[in-house]
Amino acid sequence: MAIIAETDITQGQVRSIMTDDPFENMLAQMDRAKEYADVDDGVFERLKHPERTLKVTLPVELDSGEVKVFEGYRCQFDSARGPFKGGVRYHPSVTQREVEALAGWMTWKTALVDLPYGGAKGGVICEPKDLTQNDLESLTRRYTEGIRRMIGPETDVPAPDMNTNSQTMAWMMDTYSMYEGHSVPQVVTGKPLEIGGTPGRVEATGRGVSIVTERLFEYLDRDLSGASVAIQGFGNVGSNAAKLLDEAGARIVATSDVTGAAYDPEGLDVSALDAHVTAGGLIDEYVAGDRRDVPIADGDGDRGDGWWDAPEMISNEELLTLDVDVLIPAAVEGVITADNVRELRASAIVEAANGPTTVAADEVLTERDVQVVPDILANAGGVIVSYLEWVQNAQEFSWPLETVNAELERRIGRAFDQTIEQYDAKDLPDLRTAAYTLALERTASAHEYRGLFP
Ligand code: NAD
Repeated sequence: MAIIAETDITQGQVRSIMTDDPFENMLAQMDRAKEYADVDDGVFERLKHPERTLKVTLPVELDSGEVKVFEGYRCQFDSARGPFKGGVRYHPSVTQREVEALAGWMTWKTALVDLPYGGAKGGVICEPKDLTQNDLESLTRRYTEGIRRMIGPETDVPAPDMNTNSQTMAWMMDTYSMYEGHSVPQVVTGKPLEIGGTPGRVEATGRGVSIVTERLFEYLDRDLSGASVAIQGFGNVGSNAAKLLDEAGARIVATSDVTGAAYDPEGLDVSALDAHVTAGGLIDEYVAGDRRDVPIADGDGDRGDGWWDAPEMISNEELLTLDVDVLIPAAVEGVITADNVRELRASAIVEAANGPTTVAADEVLTERDVQVVPDILANAGGVIVSYLEWVQNAQEFSWPLETVNAELERRIGRAFDQTIEQYDAKDLPDLRTAAYTLALERTASAHEYRGLFP
């Protein structure tokens, strides 16, 4: 693994941080917060190590007739506060270290938003674009069989993450249930409504991102109406955040996928772009005018008669450096680094993706007074609504969308307020440190009450 030396500008010295290792990044974030957190040294040491990680080998016969052997992981990081909870990611760049870092971040996230859960994460190394629907089903069932001894409604509850969705959860739930001999909807969250899913789960993470962005603007005493927003990644999280922020009056000037970014300083037509992407279209096709399912402009829009969204194509790197009011990374981790942080011009960053900012970049942002709403707060909407789904499954009762959304807003709003309170009361350097001190103190306190076994 390459070690990239990043210049630590604040300290004026070079410090080695494995910027391509998200686990090192997570440990560095913990170390940064430890200075201000009331946590016993022994317990803190314990919190730096995942409880366990299972690696599974997954031979699958593909539709093509080829037998392909995939590799998958499930990391259970910490369970002091409750059952393990965390998504499953399908991506070619999945590694054991990445899964462990993501499981750690889930632990701090569930503690920060005060859910009775610990943290976990799963991942399979694969390129979903190269797999048929049948291949994905076989792979998911085989992966579920591989990890089924460690998951369960009271032990570890998976959910969707990158390149997995409600269909993936349905296959996981079915496979687990087949072994149990009866339906166990509570073993996963993010399921389709028909088999115990909750209304509001699909858009929950994006809704949470939109809520914390609004709260941040209130806190900074700035007007969100007309504010410019750039969103890297127009997948589940990015597209839902874009739609809700657009509805709230913000101007979404750029968004992207793996092909690059669409940019229009006047603001993109988010619903047209969403229709195109939902129909399987890519951003570069949209910019080139090759659009799917785009409603014909009827002249009724508030953008003027016959208005046609004609953005220009820029790169994902250029999107990050746009002069906008808010930058929302909503794709992969490690995109804001010591290499590009000085070119960033956004005055605030809301981390929808997990781990998008390296520690060295973070220090520069703090020094420059750029407000960063950290991932463990900004993208917690997904796990909050997952928890609400799990509770409904336990009660064998379903709530209406309004109840789910109100509870999401209440919980993420409370976590936002507590983070701000901590930041102001302890005069902490940034919001990430405030969020981490709360999360570490809560998890450490659970460990102290429970004690060391044996
Ligand atoms: P997704 O697969 O639905 O969308 C990912 C988007 O990012 C797509 O538009 C994809 O084209 C783009 N992308 C992928 N690789 C890229 C790259 N290298 N550069 C630029 N764009 C790239 O995934 P998602 O569920 O929206 O998750 C996005 C992020 O949010 C991840 O970091 C994930 O861990 C985090 N997250 C997701 C949830 C959830 O509920 N889905 C919850 C919390 C956090």
